Amino acid sequence: TAFSDLKLDPKVLKAVEEAGYTTPTPIQSGAIPHALEGKDVLGIAQTGTGKTASFTLPMITMLQKGRARARMPRSLVLAPTRELAAQVAENFDTYAKYTKLTKALLIGGVSFKEQDQLIDKGVDVLIATPGRLLDHFERGKLLLTGVQIMVVDEADRMLDMGFIPDIERIFSLTPFTRQTMFYSATMAPEIERITNMFLSSPARIEV
Ligand code: AMP
Repeated sequence: TAFSDLKLDPKVLKAVEEAGYTTPTPIQSGAIPHALEGKDVLGIAQTGTGKTASFTLPMITMLQKGRARARMPRSLVLAPTRELAAQVAENFDTYAKYTKLTKALLIGGVSFKEQDQLIDKGVDVLIATPGRLLDHFERGKLLLTGVQIMVVDEADRMLDMGFIPDIERIFSLTPFTRQTMFYSATMAPEIERITNMFLSSPARIEV
């Protein structure tokens, strides 16, 4: 498969080309077509496999339709640590550079004020650690009922860090009709349970 066969938005293709990628990695050629069809995806993949682009590229493509609304992000990416969330945000900026999509990064150590202002204006994509996201939610600054696409990255690390209750809570705050992309390097029983609960007939891609 070539990137140009994947039905990604031309603006995304241009950014990918500029990044110097020539061929999609297996997780990308496996996940992207399902994601673009609106299916849930269960990606069993380690860091370094290109998994970030496997959810970011279709997400950016699908978000080209519609626009941001105040306090109601259209998509949500959850990562276990500040560093990982910041990396996802950096990747998003690279791949979305020819689009008008906006994002906010909700992680500890950044002032609420700045993040609140972005959310108030309306963002297309929220990239967050679970605790910080729930802090914003509890403060009544944010609604998750507009989330159409939700990504959970590195679920096995979320499990190790005790974030599974937070993840379940966040899932339950988003619409049933959302599309979910869920990534884990391993499938522990607790991870399997969460995917059975919150994913709907997912395409399972193991690399
Ligand atoms: P990830 O597994 O998402 O952390 O990505 C690992 C690294 O691979 C990142 O530095 C990406 O920029 C890079 N990468 C992702 N997809 C591709 C690709 N199709 N071709 C070359 N490099 C890639």
